[in-house]
Amino acid sequence: MDTQVKYSPTFERTKIIATLGPASRTYEHLLSLAQAGVDMFRINFSHVNYDEIPHLVECIDRVNEELKLHIGIIADLQGPKLRVGEMKDGAIQVKKGDILTFVNHKVLGTKEAIYMSYEKFASDVHPGEKILIDDGKLLFEVLETNSKDKVRLKTIFGGTLSSNKGVNLPDTAISLPCLTDKDLRDLAFILELPVHWIALSFVREAGDIRELRNIIQQHNHPAKIIAKIEKPEALNNINAIIEESDAVMIARGDLAVEVQLEKLPAIQKSIIKKCIMRSKPVIVATQLMESMISNPYPTRAEITDVANSVMDGADAVMLSGETSVGMHPSKVVEIMTRILIETERILDYGKNRPDILPHSNTFGSDVICLNAVKTSELVDAKAVIGITVSGYTAFKISSFRPKSRIYIFSNHNHILSTLNLVWGVTCYLHNNHESTNKSIEDTLTILKENHLIEKGDFVISTGTMPLHKMGRTNFLKISKVE
Ligand code: PGA
Ligand code: MN
Repeated sequence: MDTQVKYSPTFERTKIIATLGPASRTYEHLLSLAQAGVDMFRINFSHVNYDEIPHLVECIDRVNEELKLHIGIIADLQGPKLRVGEMKDGAIQVKKGDILTFVNHKVLGTKEAIYMSYEKFASDVHPGEKILIDDGKLLFEVLETNSKDKVRLKTIFGGTLSSNKGVNLPDTAISLPCLTDKDLRDLAFILELPVHWIALSFVREAGDIRELRNIIQQHNHPAKIIAKIEKPEALNNINAIIEESDAVMIARGDLAVEVQLEKLPAIQKSIIKKCIMRSKPVIVATQLMESMISNPYPTRAEITDVANSVMDGADAVMLSGETSVGMHPSKVVEIMTRILIETERILDYGKNRPDILPHSNTFGSDVICLNAVKTSELVDAKAVIGITVSGYTAFKISSFRPKSRIYIFSNHNHILSTLNLVWGVTCYLHNNHESTNKSIEDTLTILKENHLIEKGDFVISTGTMPLHKMGRTNFLKISKVE
């Protein structure tokens, strides 16, 4: 099981996101994670100290320079995550049948009064609704509420209730805004940084994404948005949310607490398919290699879960505790890379392909992208090449899931690191805007220098003519490498 993976940035098509934390905060940590195959680093603003972030960003820059990569950064906003307050002595024991009282003012928690970090709790909940704490390890039911500041709960499953544990209210329509005061503070900080993606937790509707987008645009920041799907309400509004977002995360941690757990596999498959059909990158997150937080190898079930995420068509798989607090961060990534590569050998490429919509204003370039992929299959091409300003071509070509590699060239480093999340895409910086002919030549030279194509290979180039107009992709060319 334990053979060494030799690093190559073009190894896997499915991308790996690694969450940063105490186990991954030095340059050496980040370098070894990158060498093992990480494509994106996630900074989780639920657990972060602002002071550490400039150093992390600088280290990521250095790693990219050292390895000639374009690893991007995801800033993950906590959103309306609910928590209990501090508990007396750090934790209390509750058992089945115990009655607890939740209040909305800060107290040191005992069964008689536990602080809930949410002002309108008592007016939003109703008797009979479920309340889950600590990823569902504890389950309660609302007995009564005074609709003002006091809620009585009956314990269904007891256990240890410790300070600051997360609370899920799957049955309740929560009246908190999607961007909390903390999120707005975090955003003000994040929007001063060169992050590529901003993820929003507990999205409930498309309007939540619009709100975030307005703020990002006001700051003139190029970050794109990931909607984290982890509420039943988001599932009800999934089509509109996908439409409004730039990418989607199936946040299985909270999602499995908020929906009936047995529904999770079908939800994962359905969201992935919807995202591919709309050419939006989709991430499978949480517990993919959970046991490796402490163990040197994943379980059989985890190996299979990673492989199934690939076969479902995910653009990316995400590691959380495994790389942020785990004992073997780079080993997890290494083993994950091996599972991805091996599974991609048997992937059903292009199983679900987005429709081309004649009335869309991208119709022409969509037709070119689809035909680039189809042509690549006809000639068994080694590469489909895109030259992009906005990144659109990369998202589109990738969503057709070609078997040949996708190489994307752009003159903006920021867009290259953004596109590093996208399935199958490998990015290169290219500054030449002299002519279309010269650009095609340059891209082939770069790929040849990197030993990605060789004499006799077919490659498919796409781009825009005339180059100086910087329009949408409008041509497709087959070349045989000389
Ligand atoms: P989190 O999101 O790690 O920020 O909670 C992922 C999830 O809920 O699965
Ligand atoms: Mn979550």
